[in-house]
Amino acid sequence: MESQVLIVGGGPVGLTLALDLAYRGIASTVIERRPAGERPSVKCNHVSSRTMETFRRLGFAQEVRAAGLPDDFPNDVVFRTSFCGLEMGRIPIPGRASRFTDKSGPDGWWPTPEPPHRVNQVYLEPILFHRAKSNAMIEILNEWEVTQSGQTGEHAFAVIRDLRTGEERRLSALYLVGCDGGASGVRKSIGAKLHGDAVIQRVQSTHIRAPDLLGRVKGRPAWFNYSYNSDRPGSVIAIDGIEEWLVHCYLLPHEETFDSVDRDRQIRHILGVGPDFPYDMVAKEDWIGRRLVADHFRDRRIFIDGDAAHLWVPYAGYGMNAGIADAVGLSWLLAAHLNGWAPASILDGYVAERQPITDQVSRFAMSHAAKAIKERNSIPSNVEDDTPEAAALRAEIGRKACDLNVQQYACAGLNYGYYYDESPLIVADSEAPPAYSMYDYTPSTVPGCRLPHFWLADGRSLYDALGPEFTLLRIDRHVAVAGFVDAAHALGCPLAVLDIDQSDVPDAYRYSLLIVRPDRHVAWRGAAEPEDAASVLARLTGRMI
Ligand SMILES: Cc1cc2nc3c(=O)[nH]c(=O)nc-3n(C[C@H](O)[C@H](O)[C@H](O)COP(=O)(O)OP(=O)(O)OC[C@H]3O[C@@H](n4cnc5c(N)ncnc54)[C@H](O)[C@@H]3O)c2cc1C
Repeated sequence: MESQVLIVGGGPVGLTLALDLAYRGIASTVIERRPAGERPSVKCNHVSSRTMETFRRLGFAQEVRAAGLPDDFPNDVVFRTSFCGLEMGRIPIPGRASRFTDKSGPDGWWPTPEPPHRVNQVYLEPILFHRAKSNAMIEILNEWEVTQSGQTGEHAFAVIRDLRTGEERRLSALYLVGCDGGASGVRKSIGAKLHGDAVIQRVQSTHIRAPDLLGRVKGRPAWFNYSYNSDRPGSVIAIDGIEEWLVHCYLLPHEETFDSVDRDRQIRHILGVGPDFPYDMVAKEDWIGRRLVADHFRDRRIFIDGDAAHLWVPYAGYGMNAGIADAVGLSWLLAAHLNGWAPASILDGYVAERQPITDQVSRFAMSHAAKAIKERNSIPSNVEDDTPEAAALRAEIGRKACDLNVQQYACAGLNYGYYYDESPLIVADSEAPPAYSMYDYTPSTVPGCRLPHFWLADGRSLYDALGPEFTLLRIDRHVAVAGFVDAAHALGCPLAVLDIDQSDVPDAYRYSLLIVRPDRHVAWRGAAEPEDAASVLARLTGRMI
């Protein structure tokens, strides 16, 4: 099958884009430097609820949820004086075994069929890879590198080189998407520049194997373990829940190079273990937390997506997840055009919708980072004393740390709150979308918002009942929908009609009719069909741009 889209980079974003395009019937070729199935380094540890909803639609959320930590391993975030030290505070997040039944935590109320899942990228990427590899619509060229990308009037192209033989080839397709990570060559090829804050923090990260560590923890284990003390802040993330850990050593403001701190000494300090404690270093991954967003995400037939378009401190676990949201936002637009039911102008929606949201998320992450850095760098030296005053101090530090960090570990706003109110593909109405923050989210059906989720009377998730492309939700069967159905038919635009035959819908559902897009954002709503249903659909499909 001839590919319609070339995807440069087979990381989590490129692979999800290929899978989402395939779901919509679009063939793609993914070009990836790394050998087939090579494990990435331990980076992302959090698959957001919104990303899990995408994986559910694509049919493999259960496989992702089954991966990673053991069933009963708490996904809690804990603040201690060191990994093996005294516990000061804990944010409870259920592990897999009780994820769907335990509603007591700060994300227990979330309106979703797919709560977030804590799993490292080393487990996630192989699932995406094998799904993509076995999909007939997707070709993956491993150990090939894109050395040049560009476009003519009619096509986008990539010059690729076989890393094993040196052979060169030129591939062309209608569109090309750069999902080639932070050092993106595609971004450079379209002349896009990153802007923002180049250094927010330096982190010396080490992937270790330490079979004796878990047994030394006081109290319940946790997925994310902060070490707060007056000498060196750090954190330790459970990778397999048995013996593999990722240790982040946060450099202090005056430490300007990664070599300025002794890695082994600081790891032992963060763990709270002595010089004889045995561990192996699996890998090092030192990184600089930044806030950088590209000044443009597109040049005609070429797009950028994921880390290629934006890089920021991984607070709220929203680096990969934001890239996957870009992929979903772009995929349906490309497919709408390539499947012939929308003009090329629909693609303008990608930049209009994703760029402002990306900028906003980067600022949320940065503002949270500033508060978190200040907090962990101001721990008094008596925090570990065996006195009533020190115990009270620890309780106070723990309470404040939980209050601050629950905003990133239960970030409902980042998952569900953002909206595309100024999109050229949305029909706005007189109501403004509700404000949101990283943490706060108010379900709303104002056009541009994410369709609020609820469970149908027959037990299905509303999302499972939606059509693959546009869906017209009818809350009252007496309201006519023939105008929309006929107009969609005339445009060749897929529009499923879903009747909601139940009275207990969330308050946000104030109108009898609502059109939801393939990316589950509300595009239009009304008490009845408009006189000119065709012009509503024309806007939704980019014909008015
Ligand atoms: C320590 C750490 C913790 C993190 N934690 C989180 C988290 O909890 N949650 C979260 O959402 N994010 C997190 N992130 C960020 C997350 O890892 C990245 O945002 C994510 O990997 C980006 O995915 P991507 O597919 O855009 O890019 P990448 O993962 O960088 O993939 C790009 C791919 O393109 C390939 N490539 C590049 N150039 C070429 C070329 N010329 N030819 C062929 N192939 C090419 C590369 O080999 C690579 O496989 C973290 C990052 C770090 C460093």
